[in-house]
Amino acid sequence: MSVRIDGKELAAKLRADIREEAEQYARQHGKQVGLAVVLVGEDPASQVYVRNKIKACEETGIRSYSYHLPAETRQEQLEELLDGLVADKNVHGILVQLPLPKHLDAERALKHIPSEKDVDGFCAENVGNLAMGRAALVACTPHGVMKMLEAYGIDPRGKRAVVLGRSNIVGKPMAMLLLNADATVTVCHSKTKDLAKVCAEADILVVAIGRAKFVTADMVKEGAVVIDVGMDRDENGKLCGDVDYEAVKEKAAYITPVPGGVGPMTITMLLYNTVLAAKRG
Ligand code: NAP
Repeated sequence: MSVRIDGKELAAKLRADIREEAEQYARQHGKQVGLAVVLVGEDPASQVYVRNKIKACEETGIRSYSYHLPAETRQEQLEELLDGLVADKNVHGILVQLPLPKHLDAERALKHIPSEKDVDGFCAENVGNLAMGRAALVACTPHGVMKMLEAYGIDPRGKRAVVLGRSNIVGKPMAMLLLNADATVTVCHSKTKDLAKVCAEADILVVAIGRAKFVTADMVKEGAVVIDVGMDRDENGKLCGDVDYEAVKEKAAYITPVPGGVGPMTITMLLYNTVLAAKRG
């Protein structure tokens, strides 16, 4: 039987600290910490994510500046908006909700956001700094995972960590963070051979592939720490993760549930990065 890592509870604790810091900033500077959130188009999932981010800002004393642009927005219009936000001294962080409509070039648009306002931690400079073990605004989801490990007294040093998934927003920064924390890290992906065997060697297994209940008990070492980043739907349309929670929880020492695990930590780390960006001025 395993310890359930409660992301919801931890996120609430961290948000209380972030709120205090945001209030302190406001007292010292006579203005609130500000986050600009840019949404283009009508994607329903993106609209929900943006609403949740704005609500989380309100709850933590961060002022949100919300821009909802029509789906037919041109590249130049988006970039003009971003340039204005970059120049705006009340805006400390800028977030462009992805994916953008297909006719827009996300990579080109995101290049307009300087590293110090890149609160998603996606730009080359922040990723490069992370890779080199220097201070950086770190991608929110993997950063949240590290906070979870820390909160539960799990030190990656010397441990064998396996990251399943190599996306730029989760898998790769996750691997770098674990490496920076002195774990011995293996990154797996769709071309990995003997995947189950590699996963079963992990002391810490982080799964981010987007395949419902893909990781089964036979892929997990007895006593492992299992972090499930996945947000999927099972055969009944119910929210679930990339890990078969019910079976794996009998074998793991620690495990994150879905929902209530990594999810609440992601927005929390966005708030954290925004306050950090403001404090760095
Ligand atoms: P992504 O960009 O689609 O990347 C998926 C990765 O998984 C790729 O590296 C892919 O390998 C690998 N993969 C896919 N199928 C595989 C298989 N059968 N065996 C081995 N590797 C496989 O996904 P993502 O953006 O990282 O997201 C992953 C999951 O996390 C999704 O469920 C997403 O919804 C969730 N997520 C949750 C949060 C949160 O806040 N909780 C945040 C972000 C993402 P290749 O590179 O070889 O194609």
